[in-house]
Amino acid sequence: MKLLEGQTAIITGAASARGLGKATAKLFAEHGCRVAILDLNAEAAEDAAADIGEAHIGLACDVTRKDDCVAAAAAVLEAFGQIDIVVNNAGITQPLKIMDITHENYDAVLDVNLLGTLNMSQAVIPHMRERKTGKLVNMSSVSAQRGGGIFGGPHYSAAKAGVLGLTKAMARELAPDGIRSNAICPGFIATDITGGKLTPDMMTGILAGIPMGRAGEASDVAGCALFLASDLSAYVTGSEVDVNGGSLI
Ligand code: NAD
Repeated sequence: MKLLEGQTAIITGAASARGLGKATAKLFAEHGCRVAILDLNAEAAEDAAADIGEAHIGLACDVTRKDDCVAAAAAVLEAFGQIDIVVNNAGITQPLKIMDITHENYDAVLDVNLLGTLNMSQAVIPHMRERKTGKLVNMSSVSAQRGGGIFGGPHYSAAKAGVLGLTKAMARELAPDGIRSNAICPGFIATDITGGKLTPDMMTGILAGIPMGRAGEASDVAGCALFLASDLSAYVTGSEVDVNGGSLI
């Protein structure tokens, strides 16, 4: 059964080949959805879109820039005629300790992870309100829930906790307009954001903290995004869904 037949989605930060956004785009496409892949580099976004099939488009969009988000939403509307789903996935980390964070670091991390989620949501909400339907799926992190993580840095934890607050506030305010807003909190998932930075000892330590005994796959997160974007979750809004192999048990 195809769960997103006839629907369209914007996925931000989805050009990275091993990333959560690309895996989500691929799964959405398999479920009949037309996907707009947005990322910093136009060519990378176009290549990623072509990789999942002809019906999809790739666009340059820096989510920290409100104008970029508004222009991308307009371009997607022109191409697809409607926007049903936005996956606010673009994110960056900085592996810093608390006393090493400068205001510049803080701004960079908060701007992509949190302001980017607000910017892209604001760019599509008027359209979703008009149609009385829409699904916002926001990528938070286990770092928001346990205040740490190896890669992110404290300002990343703060930004992702902000994403949870924004998700719930949008869920409350937009429910009467038929718009649902949910967050995913991935645990340790093998992607470029985590790759290449781990010694075997660090990896052993991480796996010891995961009851399921393995790192997550991008497809594990994509499956959750599909659930939250489809009618399977029709009565779910304001939720944070853990995809972490039991790390918080
Ligand atoms: P990734 O680095 O593979 O992909 C992130 C993408 O975001 C890249 O393609 C990058 O170009 C893009 N991006 C960065 N800044 C941008 C901007 N200003 N505008 C538009 N795009 C921008 O990372 P990933 O592991 O696929 O992570 C995806 C999301 O999941 C992120 O929000 C990340 O914080 C979150 N997350 C990842 C993990 C993990 O273990 N991989 C765990 C928890 C949360």
